[in-house]
Amino acid sequence: MKLLEDKMKNEGIILSDSVLKVDSFLNHQVDPTLMLEIGREFANRFQNAGITKIVTIESSGIAPSVMTGLQLGVPVIFARKRKSLTLTDDLLTASVHSFTKNERNEISVSNRFLDDNDRVLIIDDFIANGQAAIGLVEIVKRSGAMVAGIGIVIEKSFQQGGQLIRDLGYKVESLARIASLENGSITFVQEVEESVK
Ligand code: 5GP
Repeated sequence: MKLLEDKMKNEGIILSDSVLKVDSFLNHQVDPTLMLEIGREFANRFQNAGITKIVTIESSGIAPSVMTGLQLGVPVIFARKRKSLTLTDDLLTASVHSFTKNERNEISVSNRFLDDNDRVLIIDDFIANGQAAIGLVEIVKRSGAMVAGIGIVIEKSFQQGGQLIRDLGYKVESLARIASLENGSITFVQEVEESVK
């Protein structure tokens, strides 16, 4: 997605060979126009998948998910990383290792919002090693609902998460795929593919 890639090139800050900071439009400040375009793109890619709910994880998955939910006309559920006092329902939980914080979080979703009639689109901001996505898949499966696809805003293709989830048989759609963050610049997968043509 050109708009997203341009934004990443112009505003992304490369923190290391494996971490990209995008807090000017996705992870802290949010660009609503870009989020709307992201929502349209995910909705296009999953329009024939019969999606009934979107499941994401707080907090950075919420903005792109809400815009996608708006386009598809379905509700959005975000998994919580901390137990809330008001979250008194039966909880579906999974243990997830956080790539950026290097700690384990018990993520949870109320079982009131998912059931075996649901076809779920999982959305997240980044995929690195795939732990967040796997945790969300586990939660959705535990509810009896079906995972109909996974939408990722930024896939770091040099890490194994995307491939891992595809190998499990899920359809993964990423709007930007990073081949490398080395030498202080972002190289996208299609740039590498074009250079070998
Ligand atoms: P995974 O669970 O796939 O290893 O990592 C995905 C999660 O870690 C995402 O929810 C995202 O919040 C965070 N993450 C992973 N890599 C990056 C990165 O390069 N930049 C930022 N800002 N977040 C990342």
